[in-house]
Amino acid sequence: MLEIKNLHVKLEDEDKQILKGVDLTVPAGEVHAIMGPNGSGKSTLSYVLSGRDGYEVTDGAARLGGQDLLEMEPEQRASAGLFLAFQYPVEIPGVGNLTFLRTAANAQRKARGEPELSAADFLKLIREKAKTLKIDSEMLKRSVNVGFSGGEKKRNEILQMAVLEPRMCILDETDSGLDVDAMRLVADGVNALRSPDRAFLVITHYQRLLDHIRPDVVHIMANGRIVRTGGPELALEVEQNGYGDLLAEVG
Ligand code: ADP
Ligand code: MG
Ligand code: MG
Repeated sequence: MLEIKNLHVKLEDEDKQILKGVDLTVPAGEVHAIMGPNGSGKSTLSYVLSGRDGYEVTDGAARLGGQDLLEMEPEQRASAGLFLAFQYPVEIPGVGNLTFLRTAANAQRKARGEPELSAADFLKLIREKAKTLKIDSEMLKRSVNVGFSGGEKKRNEILQMAVLEPRMCILDETDSGLDVDAMRLVADGVNALRSPDRAFLVITHYQRLLDHIRPDVVHIMANGRIVRTGGPELALEVEQNGYGDLLAEVG
């Protein structure tokens, strides 16, 4: 699903290399976690994959289902099935959440060659999704993210993910200060949306999120590269021993 090879990225405005040869393959149906010390480049990786400005790819490749991601505009990446949580963190006063989600979902459907959904059909779909995810659909009536609490934004993000039906979901939970409830929400959302034709990359600083989302593979990132890859036990090793020992091993 996602194939990253030897990815090198620097800041556009500064002579600072952040990613120094990232290699990562996430097959369909799998959940991979990336952990790593602060400043190792985890968020940069997700930003570059989503096409955010400010970064320059100096070497390497990134493909989504065989398509060259780096050649695409951010909107095309989304249409190709890439979803980055907090892709739409903006507050949009005057635009109802429901309208916003329907517009985004229909753009996706159009890109996939599927017919657009009417307002009524979309409402039905989103009510089903909300129910499956045990999300109160009350917030759908409000303007996008306006006055949403942290937990509500999180809920909205999971709902977006469910409605857009992406193939590749990237969640960067590193700096969001998840409380236990929000963590549960994210974990339940990911678990509910796991499927053989969808893959997840969950970036997290803390092992505890991975207690609830059991990843198939755990990668450790340090200094702009993936330095270790293993099973869920790798996350426990980090929890118990910190990154020190692991990083000393790889030098
Ligand atoms: P992580 O998510 O693993 O904590 P980041 O990707 O946020 O790491 O950051 C990696 C490194 O790149 C850090 O040293 C950070 O300060 C630097 N960095 C990232 N983006 C920028 C930016 N826009 N301007 C300056 N430094 C940046
Ligand atoms: Mg950070
Ligand atoms: Mg980060």
